[in-house]
Amino acid sequence: MRFIARHRKVLKRTIAVVCILLFCYFAFLTIRGNGGNVKSQVYSGIAMGTAVKKTIYAKDTTLLNQVDTLIDDTLKEFENQTSVRVKDSELSKINRTYVVGGITKASDNILDYLALELQIWRETEGAFSPCIYPITALWGIEDGAEKIPDDTELQKRILASDANNIELVEDGIVFNDADMSIDLGAVGKGAACDLVREQLVQTDIQGAVISIGGSILAYGDKGDGKDWHIGIQDPRGKTGDVFGIVDTDGNMVVSTSGDYEKYFELDEKRYHHIINPITGYPADNGLISVSVVCESGILSDALSTACFVLGLEEGMKYAEEKGVGAVFVTSDKEVYVTKNLKKKFRLQSDDYTIVKR
Ligand code: AMP
Ligand code: MG
Repeated sequence: MRFIARHRKVLKRTIAVVCILLFCYFAFLTIRGNGGNVKSQVYSGIAMGTAVKKTIYAKDTTLLNQVDTLIDDTLKEFENQTSVRVKDSELSKINRTYVVGGITKASDNILDYLALELQIWRETEGAFSPCIYPITALWGIEDGAEKIPDDTELQKRILASDANNIELVEDGIVFNDADMSIDLGAVGKGAACDLVREQLVQTDIQGAVISIGGSILAYGDKGDGKDWHIGIQDPRGKTGDVFGIVDTDGNMVVSTSGDYEKYFELDEKRYHHIINPITGYPADNGLISVSVVCESGILSDALSTACFVLGLEEGMKYAEEKGVGAVFVTSDKEVYVTKNLKKKFRLQSDDYTIVKR
């Protein structure tokens, strides 16, 4: 007691210093935790014929709405250039007006997208085709006129979907068949993620997660320097249900292709929108969903569709060869993850089982 009385002043000062230090420490943690007052805003809507959700993080709140509009404008412009659903898009005009054997001029964007699609077509030996539109149009799954096609007509359309009949030349495309139609549907959402990222780097936002249909762009961070946790749609759950989570840095796109996105059922059989160009029928190899994770949005989107058609064995092999991360789900709810993604993928649903190999 006498000791305390003697050193009261020193003790008081020490306690005050400790309190100030503790206060500073907790303030630092709080600031680091929210990135120094980073605010976020969620925007939901429809663009490119699909659901779009944007979660944007910025310190300057006036940026949130501005960036939302910037993304909408980017998607609108992209759709007007590349969509076969837009009658007057550049791509629709190319499909409508080309002359067999002549050079049809196309913008650099379309030529670049097509070049990548043709590469995937070659590498997958035709499991992926940039000219699939004549077949998908016949099935009517995209426009609500679903039907099982007449076989004679289907065989004609299979021939018209042969990418051997298009060539890329310096500033255009040469079509060598009269009934062809290029379709960028398998790469559009991922390519749009790339364009959105190009816009976002020019802004002062902290980060964003932009989901465009089956492709999700993870950009920057929340101000805390931490990874994003991207949920993957449960292929047999309700929209928004997640069966697994992928941890990614802020420069990644996760694209998912599944038999649940667009389909109709007849006699208890599901007919979906991802077509095997060789049979002309929806891919039917036991897979119900494939997700591909990589930096390039267009590649992740192209590969998710391609791997879905290739099936589990060939698809896993192809994904590993391309060096991307991938998650395959079979109709038995078995989940297969490529080696490079194992540490970054977590299952979230007891309905599914990860198969180790
Ligand atoms: P995704 O949802 O990215 O897998 O893309 C599916 C869309 O790609 C379909 O709606 C078609 O427009 C197109 N598509 C379907 N099957 C194929 C295929 N085998 N190769 C390329 N594109 C395809
Ligand atoms: Mg795709």
